[in-house]
This record gives sequence, structure tokens and C-alpha cells, in this order.
Amino acid sequence: MKRKGQHFLLSAKARTISLKKVYTMGEDAAYEMFRSLRWPETEGEPVCPRCGCCDAYDIPTRRKFQCKACKHQYSVTSGTIFASRKLSFTDILAAIVLFVNGAKGVSALQVSRDLDVQYKTAYVLCHKLREAMGNGNAGIRLEGIVEIDGAYFGGHVRPENHKADRRDRRLAENQTGKRQCVVVMRQRGGRTLSFVVRHESDAVPMVRDHVGTLTTLHADEATGWDALHARWDTWRINHSVAFSDEGACTNQAESYFSRLRRMEVGTHHHIAGPYLYAYAGEASWREDHRRRSNGAQAMLVAGAALKSRQSRNWTGYWQRAA
Ligand SMILES: [Zn+2]
Repeated sequence: MKRKGQHFLLSAKARTISLKKVYTMGEDAAYEMFRSLRWPETEGEPVCPRCGCCDAYDIPTRRKFQCKACKHQYSVTSGTIFASRKLSFTDILAAIVLFVNGAKGVSALQVSRDLDVQYKTAYVLCHKLREAMGNGNAGIRLEGIVEIDGAYFGGHVRPENHKADRRDRRLAENQTGKRQCVVVMRQRGGRTLSFVVRHESDAVPMVRDHVGTLTTLHADEATGWDALHARWDTWRINHSVAFSDEGACTNQAESYFSRLRRMEVGTHHHIAGPYLYAYAGEASWREDHRRRSNGAQAMLVAGAALKSRQSRNWTGYWQRAA
């Protein structure tokens, strides 16, 4: 009998970075890594974020630079999502490693315990990483075969204790109005895009913006998707009859939701509300990069974060909330 190949995630190739490596490498090496991710074109040599000049005075004691042209003082994280960081480079890198290692996502509470940093710090850092992951999706257009599906999150109504007091929670008047729908579009062999809408059918305009006209769509029997037939070659599957019906199949879109549901149930317990889109985007990123080594994933996230501008949502979040 032919021996089955070892699963990629179990192989040594999938493990190229660890907390041990991060802390053994030390702060100087972590700093060098941030420099080469921030300024890949100059192999880590500083480029002024204000005027683009490559000539700078070094202020090594403070790990800062001063631009020779415009005199602006800056650091490797100035103007990026890590601007005015308080954590060391090793701690940020370690947080990224913990984050990419969590297949079901990682809670801020866990990061705060593992790294011995404040919960508030860990919470904002995790959200900044999610934002950086999502920034890589701008302008992506899906082609070929795209599976589309939606699932509802949040707005849970607790049933009354006594059966006589219980109401039909399926009816609109008995719901909280907080329920939102995540819609995923997943190109076979390609990228995964997610959106948050009120009702599944509200996503049709988003399909128009992100899916090419020659694409074949696969969707389930939900009537909200009927509108897709007008523009795209659309295949439908009736799940009450079969999971794959004459080639129509949305299994990849559903595997996305099984991951997002595991993140909800197993890690965060509550991913609804205004940041649902961020968790949905994180799940897309994890699907798209799941076959890379954790070191490659960490470098992708760190690189994306250093290419992301200061976050409008998360800069000074707790100061504003206070
Ligand atoms: Zn300058």
C-alpha cells in the first residue's frame, strides 16, 4: 500500500519560526528584520517617509533617523500601523507569531498572558494585525469559478426559561436587529473575499464590484442569489437534495464558514458588532495562506503591517474610549 504523504502542517517545512527563535534572535536582529521589511527596495536602508530622500543621519541610541533633506526625524515604524509603538520589536514579532499560529484565531487575552503585556495593548495590536491583513485585498478581482455563500452572526436572543414564555425567534419582531450577514466570495484556486451586510441579498452589488463578468458563480438555493443569473453564468445547488449537484458546489465557501464559526465558538465567543468585518477578513486571510510555513505567514503579516498607514480605527483607541 502506498504510504500517504505527511500533511503539510505536520511537516518541519511548516514550522520555520517560533517564539524560541524570536527571543533567541534578540532585539537587534528583530530591529534589522523590521528595517528590511519596511524598506525592501533599499535592503533596509532608511527612506524618509515625508520626502522620500534616502540620505539620513543615524541616531543609533534612539533607533531613529534624521532626513538630510527635510530634517524630519523618523523611525522604522513612523507612519505605519505600528507608529508610536510601546512594545519592543521582539514582542511585536512574537505577537505576530502567536497570531499566525492560531488556526482558529487568537484571543487578545491569550496574547496578553503569553507575552505579559496589558490586555488593552494586546487587543489593539491584534486588531492592527487584522487591519494589515485586510489591506492586502484592495483592488482584488475574482475570476474563473467563484463560490459565494452567506452566514449570519451575532444578535443572539436567549430563549426564555419557561417554555410558555418563549417566542418564535425566527420572526423579525422577536430579534435584536444586531444580526449581520457575512458573505464570502471564494475563487477556486484563488483568493477569498468577505463582506458584512444586513441580508445576504445585499451583497449582490459587491459581487458586481469584485467579480469579473466572465466568471462562473456557484451559489446555494437561497432566493437572494436569484439576481445573480442576470449578469453571470450561475450554478445553483439545493442543499436539501445534495451537497454537490451536477457540478454545482459551494463546499469551499462553506469551509470558510466552518473556520469563522470555529473562531467565534472556540476563541472569541463573540465576533459580532462593528468589528465583524475584521474577523471575517482574518478568516479569509487564513484560508488563502494556510499552506505557507508559519515563518512565511509571519513575514507577510509584518510586511503588510509596515506597508499599512497609521490606523484610523486603532491609533489611540483606549485614549479615545476613556
Ligand atoms: Zn525627508
